[in-house]
Amino acid sequence: KGKRIGVGTIQFVTKDMDDAFSRQIHIEKALYQALEEKHFYLEYQPKYELKTDRLIGFEALLRWHHDELGQIPPSEFIPLAEEMALIVPINNWVILEAAKQLKVWQPLVDHSLSMAVNISPNQFRSESFINTLRNIKQQLHLNPTDMILEITESLVMQQTEEIIARMNQIKRLDYRLSIDDFGTGFSSLQYLKSFPVDELKIDKVFLDDWLASKSHLLDVIVHLGKSLNLHVVAEGVEDEEMLDHLRTTDCDSFQGFLYAKPMPPERVIELLTHQKNEKNH
Ligand code: C2E
Ligand code: MG
Ligand code: MG
Ligand code: MG
Repeated sequence: KGKRIGVGTIQFVTKDMDDAFSRQIHIEKALYQALEEKHFYLEYQPKYELKTDRLIGFEALLRWHHDELGQIPPSEFIPLAEEMALIVPINNWVILEAAKQLKVWQPLVDHSLSMAVNISPNQFRSESFINTLRNIKQQLHLNPTDMILEITESLVMQQTEEIIARMNQIKRLDYRLSIDDFGTGFSSLQYLKSFPVDELKIDKVFLDDWLASKSHLLDVIVHLGKSLNLHVVAEGVEDEEMLDHLRTTDCDSFQGFLYAKPMPPERVIELLTHQKNEKNH
């Protein structure tokens, strides 16, 4: 860990270096290039309301296809981009792009859709963040309540005073806030109560846990979120048994491969227009 080497040292990589290490250096250099040459793109995973099975929104997920290295998963390049402070311009692009798509898709259906984007900790803390959000709101004449900013529980646990102040700034701009991967970061319940957040996204580990042992932990976490008057989302629903169980809880909505994987914008349009036709017939 922590063996970061400047991008300029790429020429010193030899055959002796292990593949993972040389791949890391390669990726760092390529990240700069990808941003400049606009090689990032987004996929969108539908999110459904549990009670009605209705599509209620999307999560935008960042993708990167590299000419030589192929498809690089976000779990691999986002931590590097974060380390290099490149995450801020990359992620600012993500918010704008996802918001633009929502503007295009909303008229295709007759109920309101939301768009969730993942906010990295450095972006959240960056000085320019509030201005970026304000600009996007103005530039797109956006209804920011349709935009959900997902922040991680680990971020929320640190420097709470500052974080709460920042959250309040975001709420004043009318964006919605969600705590992603909830349950993995051990946030104190007292903090949770004082955060101006709208939503909890329960981490997939609790779904896996329920599937493996029928443990009640998942139900308890759903109940916790609902007790705090939060919208509760389950992520990573892969099978019917899991979905059936979630329907017995007060969980509001879900995402998962069972209904839809992340997809390119063309597929989203198909999905939305198909939905409409189904309703008309
Ligand atoms: P996340 O925000 O928790 O996103 C959910 C991840 O779970 C996505 O992985 C999604 O494809 C995957 N997933 C959804 N349903 C299922 C399912 O039923 N089964 C399984 N096994 N997986 C499912 P993905 O796209 O690889 O993203 C991984 C993580 O990378 C995200 O986790 C998020 O933390 C980060 N990420 C993605 N896009 C961005 C971005 O634009 N900015 C930042 N800062 N982080 C991002
Ligand atoms: Mg997320
Ligand atoms: Mg998550
Ligand atoms: Mg996750």
